[in-house]
Amino acid sequence: MPAFTGLRALLALAVAALAALAVLLLNGDAQSGIIVLVCAVAAVLIALSGGELAPPGPSPSNGTVAPPDIGDVIEAIAEPVLVIAESRVEAANAGARELLGQHILGEDVRIAIRHPAAAERLMNPGDGAPTAPIHLVGLGTREQRWELRMHTLPDGRHVVQLVDRTGSYAAERMRVDFVANASHELRTPLASLLGYVETLRDEAGDDPETRARFLKIMWGEAQRMQRLIDDLISLSRIEAEKYRAPSDDVDLAELIEKVRIELSGSPRAADLVTKIAEVGPVRGDPTQLSQVLHNIIGNAMKYGRETTPVTLALEPEGEAMVRLSVTDESEGIPPQHLPRLTERFYRVNSGRSRSLGGTGLGLAIVKHIVERHRGRLDISSTVGKGTTVTILLPVQRLS
Ligand code: ADP
Repeated sequence: MPAFTGLRALLALAVAALAALAVLLLNGDAQSGIIVLVCAVAAVLIALSGGELAPPGPSPSNGTVAPPDIGDVIEAIAEPVLVIAESRVEAANAGARELLGQHILGEDVRIAIRHPAAAERLMNPGDGAPTAPIHLVGLGTREQRWELRMHTLPDGRHVVQLVDRTGSYAAERMRVDFVANASHELRTPLASLLGYVETLRDEAGDDPETRARFLKIMWGEAQRMQRLIDDLISLSRIEAEKYRAPSDDVDLAELIEKVRIELSGSPRAADLVTKIAEVGPVRGDPTQLSQVLHNIIGNAMKYGRETTPVTLALEPEGEAMVRLSVTDESEGIPPQHLPRLTERFYRVNSGRSRSLGGTGLGLAIVKHIVERHRGRLDISSTVGKGTTVTILLPVQRLS
């Protein structure tokens, strides 16, 4: 570019000299020729200095834009990103500053990312070839898990990206815990069954009384396994349908009446009191909503004091929702347990739940069904008094 500018300047000077010569020849006036020559040279110098005086920015002649600063580029990325030059933080976007502190710009990267595994990688970045990400625990809050990825730029700087893996790690841990818990829950009755079969096969099978007693226990254990498998199948079906909105119009008063009849054979059927107000139909899945009613009424009957009422109320909640609540009278649930009751296999008292035929999955199933129906679930309890489970469901709008 400078060679091109110099050539143009020489050309301009030649033209100026020609103009001065022309004036001299035409007028025979040497002074006019000198004035023209001086003005032309001054014009050339002003034109040349214009390029240097002009502010940087887009050139209107060809429309090209100066490349953006790398700091501006990484600012557009939501997850934490840093640029490292000679072991110092040259640039850090808002996500990185929020995670590591506003002071990190210019800091030694080992101080900015205080983590031994990260420091090791950042000080030995290798030859620029892609490397496996490293996993960091304890950066930010104690529970957070991060994946650190590093890319080397052609000029030797490093771009460090931190990807938040807290959610996927928690989901993976939940999956592993779930498989371990389900296996444990199934193995216990199975071990008991195998033990009794073994004993019956040996000497105890000859005594009719012992045999009858053992068979009764075995029947109970087999039923426990069946309940657990039924609940596991329900849970996986509900999860599979999670994103498919239910499509039937459900009259909840009618459904409650059906469930009441189905429960009429249970030992506490006489304690069920229903208070039904007029509400509009909800858009729902009748089989799943029936399962919700069975689970929450079943819990109130299981954990409530014998002969005390189990009250089921159905009423409108504003214009758009209906409120379904089941209240029992019992020793209640201490507040620290309330947020965890809908976790799979979470029980306040495992021995009591198992002895009452509980699987630990009832409320997890209720939660998933309510979520699929775009509803809300709330469990409140007063120790020594009792528990109320409330479900809000959206009313089906008539179009
Ligand atoms: P379970 O099969 O053990 O009843 P759930 O998922 O239905 O499992 O409930 C989880 C736990 O919540 C129960 O084990 C019990 O400790 C507690 N719980 C649920 N409903 C009630 C209730 N109405 N009163 C007291 N405790 C309850």
